Amino acid sequence: MPKFIFVVGGVMSGVGKGTSTASIGKLLESKGYHVTAVKIDPYVNVDAGTMNPIEHGEVFVTDDGDETDQDIGSYERYLDTTIYKDNYMTTGRVYQTVIERERALGYNGRCVQVVPHIPEEVIRRLQNAAKKAKADIVMVEVGGTVGEYENILFMEAARMMKLKRPKDVLFILVSYLPIPGRLGEMKTKPTQHAARTLNSVGVQADFLVARSERAIDEARKRKMSVFCNMAPEDIISSPDVESVYRVPMIYDEQKVAEKILKKFGLRVKKNTLSNWKKWADSITTLDRPVNIAVIGKYFETGDYILSDVYFSVIESLKHASWANGRKPVLTWLNSEEYERDPKKVRELSKYDGVVVPGGFGSRGVEGKITAIRYVREQNIPYFGLCYGMQLAVIEFARNVLGIADAHTAEVNPKTSNPIIHIMPGQEKNIASNRYGGTMRLGAYPCVLTRGTKVAKAYGVKEISERHRHRYEVNNDYRQQLEGAGLLIAGLSPDKRLVEIVELKDHPFFVGTQFHPEFKTRPMKPHPLFNAFIAAAIKARE
Ligand code: GLN
Repeated sequence: MPKFIFVVGGVMSGVGKGTSTASIGKLLESKGYHVTAVKIDPYVNVDAGTMNPIEHGEVFVTDDGDETDQDIGSYERYLDTTIYKDNYMTTGRVYQTVIERERALGYNGRCVQVVPHIPEEVIRRLQNAAKKAKADIVMVEVGGTVGEYENILFMEAARMMKLKRPKDVLFILVSYLPIPGRLGEMKTKPTQHAARTLNSVGVQADFLVARSERAIDEARKRKMSVFCNMAPEDIISSPDVESVYRVPMIYDEQKVAEKILKKFGLRVKKNTLSNWKKWADSITTLDRPVNIAVIGKYFETGDYILSDVYFSVIESLKHASWANGRKPVLTWLNSEEYERDPKKVRELSKYDGVVVPGGFGSRGVEGKITAIRYVREQNIPYFGLCYGMQLAVIEFARNVLGIADAHTAEVNPKTSNPIIHIMPGQEKNIASNRYGGTMRLGAYPCVLTRGTKVAKAYGVKEISERHRHRYEVNNDYRQQLEGAGLLIAGLSPDKRLVEIVELKDHPFFVGTQFHPEFKTRPMKPHPLFNAFIAAAIKARE
């Protein structure tokens, strides 16, 4: 029987519930257990593919083509494993299954009710995820914070599981303890309320992860113990850290895995965190920087700048920088600035390398093309991901081939030179408003061209990478592009789809139709990010 650990949030979002979930999973794995992790996203959307990334963050794509929450990416990176569709659910997805089952007479004419049928479907999905992953322990992260209307049915599912199998289910409350600047004191009240709110849905937390700027002191631990109804040693201190990859070690110092296993009646079978620890320690000592600019458009929300949309890109850049012995210094630039003032693009010469990540629609596109032209002409290492690849091909067509109106049909459907055009079969989807889950999604094989920089970086002939797009390079222009020096460095096995382009006479100018950022690992950076950072360092020197 697998064990389930539900991780719920208190007080507010954004305090690192995903990192806590992944870190505890990592820690339990290091003690000899096979761990998987599930994300519950309480939105009514069926998947994250249709959610505005500024509101919801990155859309993380799995090998089997699911469009999920960015936390799934954290689980893959910490647990160094591949996570599939089964490990992600939303309110919309759960209801969709129940309704489809009802329409197929799957409930044999019974009245289908929100309770118990919705929680039962949640439980079925959790058990299925455990079985598919052959997990000993399943971490289940419940999105949102306790007390929200949206996650109540998921909490009900968790409560029902605990009732049935009390020894196999635990709850961890990850809550925030603010230290208001004016007071200078850590306040526990909001978290006391969170623990009580959790009680009101019939759940008692077994552990409290006390997230705060600083470590929680003994006095507050004792106080929280009384108010949150748990032993002081089950309150885990989780202060802000410079690198999130240190969190498993911080938990290990407090014997979190031992305490969890004890409650489950399990023992420590192994201790394999030392490699991770060595690595996490080593990256904090790096001080020579590598300066990388990421040019996007999904950064600003109100008065604030957020980079969550490009979460995996950022992690990939960090992993690769560390592997190259450098401290990553990342800067977010808004491409619309280069539309307002094209001369501003010269600021890019300050950076060792430039990335244009994935994107959709017309906003900021001309600014990105201006930036790509600059880095191509100035020999600044460039890495284009998905849209960043398509726009690089457009830039090349416009400014090297002299096709002035070269464009993507996504932005200008009427252009006489659609260098990037819609993929076969996709018109139907758009014409009938079938947008959800209909892009070219998930892992596809790609054959590399011998002698290219990317073939050298990968060191193999065939690769598999994850995709999320509706448009592609138009094969009618392939000969012209190649003739002018744009190498087709990777193709689908049937040679129909351009998956990678690369420039011959440039320190590093690579664009991928796929999203390499989804396959980076802390200690095993993605080969193309690795090569890009190495080129960026070399170009500067
Ligand atoms: N908008 C482009 C397409 O749909 C690129 C998508 C992306 O960058 N993920 O093809």
